[in-house]
Amino acid sequence: MKTATCLKCGACWIDGQLHWASGKVADEKDLAGLVCQPVGDDSCINPRRNDTTGDSWQKRKARMDILEIEQRYGFPGS
Ligand SMILES: [Zn+2]
Repeated sequence: MKTATCLKCGACWIDGQLHWASGKVADEKDLAGLVCQPVGDDSCINPRRNDTTGDSWQKRKARMDILEIEQRYGFPGS
């Protein structure tokens, strides 16, 4: 078993599969958007560190904003 841990974000690759620090399987592009881009630097080992197609706090916040607006104003069909 080959493991590698990013010292910057704590993410862990086990035999090439990324796991969150919690042990849950993770997606490299989600890690990039959620962790590596906000807190990482050149020492981050995520191969997709500069990939912006994954999840990000902006996207999460946008989804929450939509939910909040739907709850507040009760958009039809929501
Ligand atoms: Zn990292």
